[in-house]
Amino acid sequence: MTTESEIPRLIPGSGLTNYPPPDRWDDWEEWDAKAWPKREKNRYRLVPTTCFNCESACGLLAYIDKDSGEIRRFEGNPAHPGSRGRNCAKGPATINQVNDPERILYPMRRSGPRGSGQWERVTWEEALADIGGRMGDAIREGRNDDIMYRGGRAGEDGFMDRTLKAWGVDGHNSHTNICSSGARVGYAMWSGYDRPSSDFANARFILLLSSHLETGHYFNPHAQRIMEAKRAGAKLVTVDPRLSNTASMSDIWLSPWPGTEPAMLLAMARLLLEWDTVDHEFMSRWVNWEASMHARYPERPPTYETFVDVLREEYAGYTPEWAADECGVDADQIETVAREIANAGERFSSHTWRSVGSGNLGGWQAARCLQFLHVLTGSVGTVGGLSPSAWDKFKPKHWNMPPPHSRWNELLWPIEYPLSHHEMSFLLPHFLKEGRGRLEVYFTRVYNPVWTNPDGFSWIEVLTDEEKIGLHVAMTPTWSETAWYADYVLPMGVSAERHDTHSYETHAARWLGFRQPVLRVAGEREGKTYERTYEANPGEVWEETEFWIDLSWSVDPDGSLGIRKWFESPEDPSRPVSVDEYYGWMFDNSVPGLPDKAAAEGLTPLGYMRKYGAVEIERDIYRVNERPVEGAERGPDGIAYKDGAPVGVTIDGHVLEGFKSPSRKLEWYSSTMDEWGWHDEAIPGYLETHVYWRDMDMGGNERILLPTFRLPTLIHTRSGNAKYLYEISHGHPLWVNPIDADALGFETGDLVRISTDSGHFVMRAWRTEGIRPGVVAASHHLGRWRLDDERGNERWSSALVNVEQIGDGKWRLRQLKGIEPFSSDDPDSERIWWSDPGVNQNLAFPVHPDPISGMHAWHQRVRLTTAEAGDRYGDVVVDTNKSFQVYRDWLSKTKPGPGPDGTRRPLWLDRPVKPTPDAYVYPG
Ligand code: SF4
Repeated sequence: MTTESEIPRLIPGSGLTNYPPPDRWDDWEEWDAKAWPKREKNRYRLVPTTCFNCESACGLLAYIDKDSGEIRRFEGNPAHPGSRGRNCAKGPATINQVNDPERILYPMRRSGPRGSGQWERVTWEEALADIGGRMGDAIREGRNDDIMYRGGRAGEDGFMDRTLKAWGVDGHNSHTNICSSGARVGYAMWSGYDRPSSDFANARFILLLSSHLETGHYFNPHAQRIMEAKRAGAKLVTVDPRLSNTASMSDIWLSPWPGTEPAMLLAMARLLLEWDTVDHEFMSRWVNWEASMHARYPERPPTYETFVDVLREEYAGYTPEWAADECGVDADQIETVAREIANAGERFSSHTWRSVGSGNLGGWQAARCLQFLHVLTGSVGTVGGLSPSAWDKFKPKHWNMPPPHSRWNELLWPIEYPLSHHEMSFLLPHFLKEGRGRLEVYFTRVYNPVWTNPDGFSWIEVLTDEEKIGLHVAMTPTWSETAWYADYVLPMGVSAERHDTHSYETHAARWLGFRQPVLRVAGEREGKTYERTYEANPGEVWEETEFWIDLSWSVDPDGSLGIRKWFESPEDPSRPVSVDEYYGWMFDNSVPGLPDKAAAEGLTPLGYMRKYGAVEIERDIYRVNERPVEGAERGPDGIAYKDGAPVGVTIDGHVLEGFKSPSRKLEWYSSTMDEWGWHDEAIPGYLETHVYWRDMDMGGNERILLPTFRLPTLIHTRSGNAKYLYEISHGHPLWVNPIDADALGFETGDLVRISTDSGHFVMRAWRTEGIRPGVVAASHHLGRWRLDDERGNERWSSALVNVEQIGDGKWRLRQLKGIEPFSSDDPDSERIWWSDPGVNQNLAFPVHPDPISGMHAWHQRVRLTTAEAGDRYGDVVVDTNKSFQVYRDWLSKTKPGPGPDGTRRPLWLDRPVKPTPDAYVYPG
């Protein structure tokens, strides 16, 4: 039985906690603070769920008023192993999203031309029949890949994988190439694992190329562990051209020229090699030095000692002085950081996500070079070091999993980008314009490409073209700029209104979280019964798990397509599987230790997850690569196999698990990159970015724009209806260093025209020394807009705008009014005092797909001028003919496949919804 003492403490060991004990969650009483000085008690039922406002998946506890049956607030779930009862501001703000008076409550179908904003309410049955019917026709005609599913932040693990496999559709789209592919490729080329898992809490030195204390990946779970390390004496260094809140909390802030970070990291690597503060035992066992020597230095003796000599020679030019000049930082600081890394040894931890990797051409080398420092110090898989993500992430099996399909969708995995880490989703408008395909049914799910992606006007052009996209279904918890151009707008639940499972590498442990519709769970505890979650949620807001099950049934109602069988109830095949059956099977059969934990409390595994919302599976996970593998067959190349699949590598005569790269070692030299045409890039190195500072006319008006930083309190589209958050964060200035501001003649508040290669936008300047000279910055979390005063995007956050075509391919968005008070069922809407909606700068960014990673390189070379007569704040003007030409220019940087073995993509590289190997063979 889980006792109160086993619930993780707010501060471990301190006893500092006020969480209601779990055995009283079904009947919790507390005084009503608002009733003071009267003493009135409120009675609550506390139901756990998981936050859906960023990728961290922190635990939440919904406080459901037992008298009214309404959710009153959200607090942290102390039983969640990742977040341990804590949340950032966005977690509790879920209550705003639940109660937003402007939220979409019912399914709607457009009743006028697409984009006209005319809608009619329909039933879920009507929507399912229409959408499912069109999909069924496409699949019957062999047009499976005319169906495409575009997800925003996934927030779930595996359900869409099984759904698309069941349909036989290679149509999974991630948002990853506008988010994190850059970092992923850098990590994957070392180990086969595309993300790091930082053991921050136990580190002695932490190096961040991102802003994990305020906004980063796994923000709250990471931030609390970084602070634990700092309290224990660890030093923190942050590399960021902008003085983020994270940088301000660091021992050293390094502010290099954007895109030069790999040069600085390699200078640190050079120092480690020069000082010989290298973990030779680790390196000689776990780095692919034999293959590296054989491939790159065949004339040299193939010994480890020579390999170390080679490293010293390769990086000899990366002196601190050279890097200081290249990066614009002090050589002394580079040496100081290198010394801290050397001193921390195995307890050196780090992280990079977005930032460098997502801003720059070749930005993936930042993760590659950062991991190099871990390889040199042996801080891989160690206490206080850095592990591969998958060691600390738990993926349960899904019930009745269909086999992989054998399809390949060229609209998502084009031959030009064989090494892209995820689908080239953000190039869809350009591919459709080139006639590479068409879509019959296009789902945008919790995703808003018109606003979030680069080149949003090109998205509007294809979304309004019914020849290119036959049916656009927007599945969303909030209004969005993209939903406006949909045929169906289907309301999907926020974190308290849906089922999902998920697990993330927040620390050196594995856990599984369970998101659940809290009103349904509370109602069931009171004896109510529900067929579908929308019966318990506000209006007819639904959840995706049940929606996909019922939609699949509608695609194949009689089972003739072979799809229905994957969604039939195991108890009664004449009806769809229920969520209790689905997740009940998962928790009974595929979560180690959960059945025993549940039995100890007299609960079923499903009952345990409904009670606690999460379960810890394993803790203190280190050095998984050293785990012995039994019963494997050794191949001549040292790789060990089971059933034909690699499972280990022979080290010192023993078969050990190793990593997931082709050699199952850490690959300094990547034969994959070499064989696919990237010889020079096959080792950790430094590539000049597309916004290389030496190529800029800094004496004139050119500068580098950093448009990617997050605000701690907002999250892209989904926070648009969270009034608490917009009350905190609503200004959207252009950060300009006073040196630049003086040179360009800007004062704080002046209107500035920022010109890109495809257009311009107009913002207000903010003079601040928080940005290095030569660089300007604007957050990507603001600039929401709506086309109608009362319909579409929430008025808490959006400007009323006019969007018009002012020439062939030329578009202008102009703000008609900012954020103003409005009347609604929520009296707070009359009290809105903020007015600045910000500027949708992404519209004016042409696409910059990195030729290797596929990542959109977000940083922009911009020209800054005082706004011209007629310019207004918020104006965005774009020529999509120019943006299309930029797309073609970047396309020409690619080295298309097929690869040396005639395949479209290396088979070992991960990809979502991986097809069978035969689908990899390029037919041309
Ligand atoms: S960090 Fe904040 S937004 Fe992200 S899951 Fe946790 S509470 Fe939610």
